Amino acid sequence: MRGDTKQETILSGRDRLTPIELKKINHKKVYDYIYETKLTSKVAISKALELSLPTVTQHLSDFIDAGLVEKRGEYESTGGRKPQIIRCNALARISIGVEILKESVQIAALDLYGTVLKEDELALRFSNTEPYYQQLGNWINAFTHALNYPTENILGVCITIQGLVSSDGETITFSEILHCTGAKRETYQRHIELPCHLIHDTEAAALAEIWYNSGIENAVYLALNRNFGGVLILNNHILRGRELSGGIIEHMCLSPDGPTCYCGKQGCIETYCSADSLKNAAHMELPEFFERVHGGDPRCNKLWRNYLRHLAIAVDNIRMIADVDFILGGFLIQFMNEADIELLTKYVKEQCAFETPDFAFHISRTGSKSAKLGAAITLVEQFLASV
Ligand SMILES: [Zn+2]
Repeated sequence: MRGDTKQETILSGRDRLTPIELKKINHKKVYDYIYETKLTSKVAISKALELSLPTVTQHLSDFIDAGLVEKRGEYESTGGRKPQIIRCNALARISIGVEILKESVQIAALDLYGTVLKEDELALRFSNTEPYYQQLGNWINAFTHALNYPTENILGVCITIQGLVSSDGETITFSEILHCTGAKRETYQRHIELPCHLIHDTEAAALAEIWYNSGIENAVYLALNRNFGGVLILNNHILRGRELSGGIIEHMCLSPDGPTCYCGKQGCIETYCSADSLKNAAHMELPEFFERVHGGDPRCNKLWRNYLRHLAIAVDNIRMIADVDFILGGFLIQFMNEADIELLTKYVKEQCAFETPDFAFHISRTGSKSAKLGAAITLVEQFLASV
């Protein structure tokens, strides 16, 4: 068995790895293995990764000293000494996700496995003004203090914005919804004690779907929120374009003569498929609207079917580029029953020029929490990649 203490360089394919490089790779392999298996033992790690026991012991000792891995109890003996149970310390780091909406703010603290430790909500109307940022910062700081957790082990605060964020994360490049185009990360940071980051809300929500549903590889995530959103996920990663962030499917045109969108164009998906467009057409709040839909009200049913037909056209358009899995998430999902999903699925199949009998939607696993959870997960992922 190969140890990593040898001084000579090791051949791996055509690349030569120095002992330091090899140690670094094995270090990460050991942590990843413990993280993935959740409960393991020194012998199991050694066998699975084909590393010598002294090598595994050294890496484990480093992780235990750093508080990243812990020994918890013993396995039953199969003869000889009982093997110790090794596992990751899920609380070694904590990440904070914040979702900013027009009328409120939501916050959640997650451990390294994405488990929610604490969450809260504040009714705070967004305004691109200093008093707002001050109040927001005070609330976030109070939330993190109340965790009673060492500040140096909190990975930071990731904030979702209903808008696009520049690739360097410093500027909000487009946010007509919050009317804060041009706002800077620094403005948020001034009032938040921990390092803060900004992310497009739909991207964050899609990241949560990938995280909590390991079966997803290639998919389009559609957020049926008050404002529509959608991103393309390829090989478990969000496809980030050049200047338009992680996709802005909501501004794909369904009809050039359609209603005017907040982006300035006409007939965008947003104007037909956002929850706000449905609410405006219905002239009532959506809980009441869906009560009427499911109660058989003819006018509301007609509006709902019209909504679903437009959504089906949008899905079909996207499928012509990427026939992948489709995940439905966002605000409207809570009101939709199985029959609604079936009807939408039927419309999508009818809209398609080709026979696709197996087409089916996936439904979001994180519901209305997806954006704030996804925001926190971005920092967890960065941390796990850096171990
Ligand atoms: Zn638009």
